[in-house]
Amino acid sequence: MYDIIIIGAGVVGGLIARELSAYDLNICIVEKEHDVAMGASGANSGIVHAGYDAKPGTLKAKLNVLGSSLMPKVARELGVKYQNNGSMVIGFSEDDRIVLEGLLKRGLQNGVKDLRIVEQDELRELEPALSKDVLCALLAPTGSIICPYELTIAAIGNAMDNGAHLELDFPVEKIKKTEEGYEVISGEKSLQAKYVINAAGVYGDDIAAMAGDDSFSIHPRRGEYILLDRECGNLISHTIFRTPGKMGKGILITPTVDGNLLVGPTAVDIEDKDNTETTQEGLHYIMSQARENVPDIPFGKTITSFCGLRSVGNTGDFIIKASDTGWINVSAIESPGLSASPAIALYAIDLLKEQGLNLVKKESYDPIREPQHKFHEASMEEKNEMIKKNPAYGKIVCRCETVSEGEILDAIRRNPKARDLDGVKRRTRAQMGRCQGGFCSAQIIELLAREWNIPYDKVTKSGGDSYINIGRTKEV
Ligand SMILES: Cc1cc2nc3c(=O)[nH]c(=O)nc-3n(C[C@H](O)[C@H](O)[C@H](O)COP(=O)(O)OP(=O)(O)OC[C@H]3O[C@@H](n4cnc5c(N)ncnc54)[C@H](O)[C@@H]3O)c2cc1C
Repeated sequence: MYDIIIIGAGVVGGLIARELSAYDLNICIVEKEHDVAMGASGANSGIVHAGYDAKPGTLKAKLNVLGSSLMPKVARELGVKYQNNGSMVIGFSEDDRIVLEGLLKRGLQNGVKDLRIVEQDELRELEPALSKDVLCALLAPTGSIICPYELTIAAIGNAMDNGAHLELDFPVEKIKKTEEGYEVISGEKSLQAKYVINAAGVYGDDIAAMAGDDSFSIHPRRGEYILLDRECGNLISHTIFRTPGKMGKGILITPTVDGNLLVGPTAVDIEDKDNTETTQEGLHYIMSQARENVPDIPFGKTITSFCGLRSVGNTGDFIIKASDTGWINVSAIESPGLSASPAIALYAIDLLKEQGLNLVKKESYDPIREPQHKFHEASMEEKNEMIKKNPAYGKIVCRCETVSEGEILDAIRRNPKARDLDGVKRRTRAQMGRCQGGFCSAQIIELLAREWNIPYDKVTKSGGDSYINIGRTKEV
């Protein structure tokens, strides 16, 4: 019997688990997929929004501003890269200026610091690659960037190092109310807990309905992206948004913390909660819109495209509340959910306290997680030191991103352990370069097979039946 089960291993479930692991509690995170960060937390813009966008007085506004102020500390403790690059919303006309002034006013009401409108001359200096037609911009110096899946992996890893349990491949199918709390059921497997946190992303309404709460609904809104090679990351330094119109925030252009250039997302409402395919139409739209803002984006240097699904709720705000004794919904966490996530975790824990959860601090709690070693970022001295400690750091497996065997083994061995090719990719960047794994995936398969003690043909790309080697072509 657990004290708490958290359904969903995204950034929200992960940071709630991490916060709770500071207390003397028996915690279990259950996740339907083969790895963590497989929902929206693995495929978004990675922007820690300043907080001028949400309507004053909403949970979105309050938790965005608080969350983004907490993020630098969270990132430092978890060894996750975070960069305060600032963001700007660009305007092309006097009509746009009126919208920007509205956003400025809203930001000030929400408590965002240092917001101001900048004019053409200053803009040219700040971002020379912007279109000459840009007239003015709202500058938000507190806007920042982070790697969303690195944050999720690190939060869950830290929670596990502090005693939380992670149950993967556990799609929750049924919930039963018991005398002491809840029974959470997946096929033949069943777990029990006194309290349940529903952090199941786009499936949050379905999970709530299993527990008898059909008071809200969520629909998926697709967001597609194009990711460009690292040599393009310096084209701009701020995150560039377009003045929002009837169609929302539009296409943004941003450097990533790893030095790539990210362009997107589209915003299309769909029915299927699992459909993360990219479309030709979407990618063309991204290119045409982005070129209006930054004309010289070198789309020829594209290395991949991907898609994430926003959890759009029917209330217009985050839905974070208790719906029954011991049951907390943390749902409809669309943007700015990543930015708000550290604050959402604290808010959810306050709700648990109101529900009677007794919180006793654990002396052994350690909020610090050693960063994932990054060989290519180390100085020559540090590299030599790493190789001296473990010669596997001297053996480069992914040549595009300079990732060593030592880093891949770390990813497979430490919490939450990488179990497939994509899991290694998200933790180390191996296969994330220009060749997209063409050269290194065979070696990574070998390491996964050896470490998990499974045959080569049982190693998958991303869990399920995504097998890579399906038979021998010849005997050698
Ligand atoms: C295109 C896009 C762009 C965005 N950009 C930004 C941004 O720049 N800045 C920002 O602040 N926010 C952004 N967001 C929002 C942000 O990504 C989300 O708010 C955040 O990731 C939500 O995290 P989560 O943990 O609630 O959901 P998720 O990450 O979706 O996690 C939910 C988890 O629950 C699991 N699950 C679902 N059903 C079940 C079940 N039955 N049993 C077990 N597990 C289950 C899923 O597999 C998933 O892993 C963006 C979102 C999208 C889609």
